[in-house]
Amino acid sequence: MNNLEIIKESQKYMPGGVNSPVRAFKDVTINPAVIKRGQGAYVFDEEGNQYTDYVCAWGPMILGHCDEDIVAAIKDTSENAIAFGAPTYLELKLAEHMCSTLDGVDMLRMVNSGTEATMSAIKLARGYTGRDRIIKFAGCYHGHFDGFLVSAGSGVMTEGIPGSAGVPELSIKNTLIASYNDIESVKLLFENYSDEIAAIIIEPVAGNMGVVAADKEFLSGVRDLCDKYGSLLIFDEVMSGFRVAYKGAMSLYGIKPDLVTFAKIMGGGLPCGAYGGRRDIMEKLSPLGPVYQAGTMSGNPIVMAAGYATLTKLYNNLDYYSHLESLGARLETGIREAAAEMGLPVVINRVGAMMTIFFTELNEVKNYEDAKTCDTKLYAKYFEHMFKNGINIPPSQFEALFISVKHTGEDIDYFIKTFKKLGDSSFR
Ligand code: PMP
Repeated sequence: MNNLEIIKESQKYMPGGVNSPVRAFKDVTINPAVIKRGQGAYVFDEEGNQYTDYVCAWGPMILGHCDEDIVAAIKDTSENAIAFGAPTYLELKLAEHMCSTLDGVDMLRMVNSGTEATMSAIKLARGYTGRDRIIKFAGCYHGHFDGFLVSAGSGVMTEGIPGSAGVPELSIKNTLIASYNDIESVKLLFENYSDEIAAIIIEPVAGNMGVVAADKEFLSGVRDLCDKYGSLLIFDEVMSGFRVAYKGAMSLYGIKPDLVTFAKIMGGGLPCGAYGGRRDIMEKLSPLGPVYQAGTMSGNPIVMAAGYATLTKLYNNLDYYSHLESLGARLETGIREAAAEMGLPVVINRVGAMMTIFFTELNEVKNYEDAKTCDTKLYAKYFEHMFKNGINIPPSQFEALFISVKHTGEDIDYFIKTFKKLGDSSFR
């Protein structure tokens, strides 16, 4: 079957033909490629077309597709250990590695997705503080847990729905919304709900309204307010963890959260997640404490092996991060120059190897309101042009593009050259 035939057939059996909404390319007018194979910086569809991949499975494939060490770890482990639902040495190895290399992570609980990690961290924060309300920021996405589907970014933003059907009022009544990079909006909530707020959850480098980094003063202001009012600070590093730096965004800012959530890179591309942080908080989890959270597949041996192989490879090759930074800088500079030549107003936000080109007339994009000024139709045209020329970028303005360690300077130059060709067409 060719790509289109597979998509049409898939639509009969899976809503929209996909298992996660952004994959349906709702924002653009062409059909998704059906990906069959990935190697290094490239993916290949069912028709044999090759794309340089800047989606990287939405972040996880920092080592590129089918890295030999990850494949070996998966193969070796699966010969003897697929699932037990029992403690394994593999999960100890990954937990010990993460706790010993990440500042402020004393203990961890493994789960199976980013959503599970964030919703469990919220439950733990509520159990620990005995408070119900949480603060999240407009444009930040923390997964599809009911309590987060208010002013969420990413797919929810792309679809233009305020939250989601099927979420009872009651589930979101304890979710307070603040504005990213606006400390006054956080202060105001604390003044109104001073001793009711269990936690603030934030993407310290947001990737789900496109890339928007928190200002350092803003983030330290958030830390101070949490301390003042006895609320916990949760960094959602599902995307930024092991991506913007090995030790995540928290290391870039030098700010310690009380709890932190991971997924994506930490599982080497397999379904995974984890949340961790201060020992006194983590010890409130069952079986030690009263907060119940469980998972049949949690700590799955193959996932743990892939995660351990990925994280140790990254940790033993920290120069990968300078390579990623230099590729990211090369791309950013090239696109900036090309856009200026074309007289195309754009804002480019980048932290290391995650970046977004915002098609907006504004001078900067610092929050959800700014991001919403973007011309999504222009983004769609840009996407389609890149895609037709063998470059796979996210099909939505409100996502990050990712670079892997397998991308080369030539790949980046081809991206810039292809972007420049937009100037030849009736792009605007
Ligand atoms: N938090 C952040 C910051 C994310 O980017 C995502 C997914 N893009 C999630 C949570 C949810 O993770 P998952 O899709 O694995 O449930």
